[in-house]
Amino acid sequence: MTAEEMRHPLTVHERPEAGAVEAVVFDWGGTLTPWHTIDLGQQWRVFAREVHGIPLDSADVPEEDLRRAWQLAERINEAETSAWRRGREDQRSAHLDDILREAGVDPRDDRHHVALAAYRRFWEPHTHTDPDVRPLFEGLRSRRLKVGVLSNTIWSREYHREIFARDGVLDLIDGDVYSSEIHVVKPHAKAFETICHELGVEPTNAVYVGDRLFEDVLGPQEVGMRAIWVPHSDIPTEQQVTVEVTPDAVAEELLDVLDFVDGWLGR
Ligand SMILES: [Mg+2]
Repeated sequence: MTAEEMRHPLTVHERPEAGAVEAVVFDWGGTLTPWHTIDLGQQWRVFAREVHGIPLDSADVPEEDLRRAWQLAERINEAETSAWRRGREDQRSAHLDDILREAGVDPRDDRHHVALAAYRRFWEPHTHTDPDVRPLFEGLRSRRLKVGVLSNTIWSREYHREIFARDGVLDLIDGDVYSSEIHVVKPHAKAFETICHELGVEPTNAVYVGDRLFEDVLGPQEVGMRAIWVPHSDIPTEQQVTVEVTPDAVAEELLDVLDFVDGWLGR
């Protein structure tokens, strides 16, 4: 892939004409899962305490141990911040294991398995699927539409599927693509083409639903998908990319997606 191909305009230039709707693809964080503002430094302090065997509720910890733990947390946090920045600037994806290795952590080490479990416990309350997702997916499938997921994520497919299974919606997903498993992140065209290929539909016959204008509206529209914006996330300023785009629809609630799709289906 050339640098030119990686570069994205900040507005949609040539948009292929949309056709009949056959599939609807969803973003994960802030869309299928309601937005939570997270202390991103804290996730790695929780991880680093476990690596250094410092119990979370212990106040009596040697200063040297704590210092080393906080240094590790800071290294991982910096590696993760750089990975997401590379995503925004070059649309290059990353996997959690790459980030840990970059911070000098061997993700296969036993201690790090324990630390990863603590990291997941930290995230667990922020991963719950919106209760409207099941009726929404059922509504789409009753219209004979395919349901897909395309997420910018450092987590594995297995982890995301565990979350969907826990929340009782995995059986309604026809195809899912996670950026951690491909080389690019949204808004790169390849990400949208990959999920459409997996669903067996042309991008012009698919709709994308997401909470970010750069990743979830500009990206899909450039490959000819319709884009529905879910505008409820409090996205940190440093994660925002300025774009000039007009979503095809704005969903105040997830179930509004059914009404928009019905309009495009001519129902
Ligand atoms: Mg999102």
